[in-house]
Amino acid sequence: MEKKKIVILGAGFAGLKLARKLNNNPHFSVTLIDRYNYHQFQPLFYQVATAAINASDISFPIRKVFQGSKNVSVRLAEVTAIKKDQNIVETTIGDFSYDYLVVAMGCTTNFFGNKQIEELSFPMKSTNEALTLKNRLLTNFESAYSAESPEELEEIMNIVVVGGGPTGVELSGAIAQMKKFILPKDYPDLDFSKLNIYLIEGGPNLLGPMSELAHKKSYEYLTNMGVNVWTEGRVTDYDGKTISLADGRTINTRNLIWAAGVMGNVPEGAVKQEDLQRGNRLKVDRTSKVLGTENIYAIGDISSMETPKYPHGHPQLARVAGDQAEQLAKNFDKLGQGLSEDKLTLFEYKDPGSMATIGKRKAVVDLPKFSFSGRLAWFTWMFLHLMLILTVRNKLAIFLNWAQTYFTNDSSLRIIVRPTKKDFRFNLKGYRRFPKNRDKEVEA
Ligand SMILES: Cc1cc2nc3c(=O)[nH]c(=O)nc-3n(C[C@H](O)[C@H](O)[C@H](O)COP(=O)(O)OP(=O)(O)OC[C@H]3O[C@@H](n4cnc5c(N)ncnc54)[C@H](O)[C@@H]3O)c2cc1C
Repeated sequence: MEKKKIVILGAGFAGLKLARKLNNNPHFSVTLIDRYNYHQFQPLFYQVATAAINASDISFPIRKVFQGSKNVSVRLAEVTAIKKDQNIVETTIGDFSYDYLVVAMGCTTNFFGNKQIEELSFPMKSTNEALTLKNRLLTNFESAYSAESPEELEEIMNIVVVGGGPTGVELSGAIAQMKKFILPKDYPDLDFSKLNIYLIEGGPNLLGPMSELAHKKSYEYLTNMGVNVWTEGRVTDYDGKTISLADGRTINTRNLIWAAGVMGNVPEGAVKQEDLQRGNRLKVDRTSKVLGTENIYAIGDISSMETPKYPHGHPQLARVAGDQAEQLAKNFDKLGQGLSEDKLTLFEYKDPGSMATIGKRKAVVDLPKFSFSGRLAWFTWMFLHLMLILTVRNKLAIFLNWAQTYFTNDSSLRIIVRPTKKDFRFNLKGYRRFPKNRDKEVEA
């Protein structure tokens, strides 16, 4: 019997898990498409951005996972559109036809339509962006030596993180640790008492969806570490030098880090614009099928599934993405065995809890029945994140870096590496030459 074709868009937590679960399944041939040739472990981006670990330690080449697979093929391509009426996905390397399509393209940063902020701030939603932020932070302090006025020095010495969710909290905590332990040693002739770290959150609390204890402790830890936490502050504009808030306050800075929201990476043609849910998510039923479609599924951050326990959709977490993928793989297997759709299992998320780390021996953990913070929470956070990292090699590399940082409060990864222009000459259709005017890209 001819195998049915499943095309999976995105090899993040959801897409990769689904492809692994369908690996060597006799009923399906699977094509996994991603714009990167590696899987990214997003929860540790902030450590890459603050030079605590290497980018390669939280990345894993997708092709290696499927070496020797009988039914999974991997393609490096950017998905551009879906042609639902023809069962075709358009990508930068050509079209792919499918019997079942699974959209697992995750989210991108939401700048809420502000083009200035999008252009001038630093988001952290991919390994590339985490590396760009690391380079920015390191070059920022180098540029302090050539500041020509006190105003310019002030702009360099102010670092502003917007968004008080786990990303913003973890990042501002890590920068505060750098200020205390590393920067004065690396740049002994700069005065780091002038370095101000701001964390601006629109809501009344940091770590909004977490417990009261997490709100209180994260605020307490960060303020004790010298971070200026501004809650109920809404950033309205940024011109590259000054941030403006809705209440009239301003901060002069060249370093705006944007961690204030995400929106789904929905490919063109997936659904009508008016059918998208809040945050650009695809509304799915409890088998993860996109509403109004016959053979398109969505899992992970991009999907929005209402259940009695989660009437507004699930939280956008790696665990939810993985569980959804596992459930969908089981359901595909049932379909492959010829079972009808009414025999499919409905998804139910069992929340194991959530956590965030703020600094050395400072973390908060919410379990379903109770919450705790401090040293035990910090070790719990480290242990669980280490367990989630793919491959023993990456676990060991991270463990060694963490051990070095724990005992020395330092690391040796503060290296500024940037791709050359030539790196961009290669695209997925072969070798192309960029003349001075990059818009006029020509075939070599
Ligand atoms: C900084 C940060 C910290 C986080 N910390 C935690 C945490 O501590 N705990 C937790 O549970 N969750 C955390 N999350 C959330 C977690 O990472 C997400 O919930 C999870 O990644 C969702 O998985 P996904 O598969 O839906 O999407 P992703 O993992 O984002 O995967 C999407 C994939 O689609 C690919 N893709 C996107 N667009 C295209 C395109 N046009 N063409 C081809 N490929 C494309 C991407 O390259 C990516 O590989 C964090 C997220 C961030 C950004």
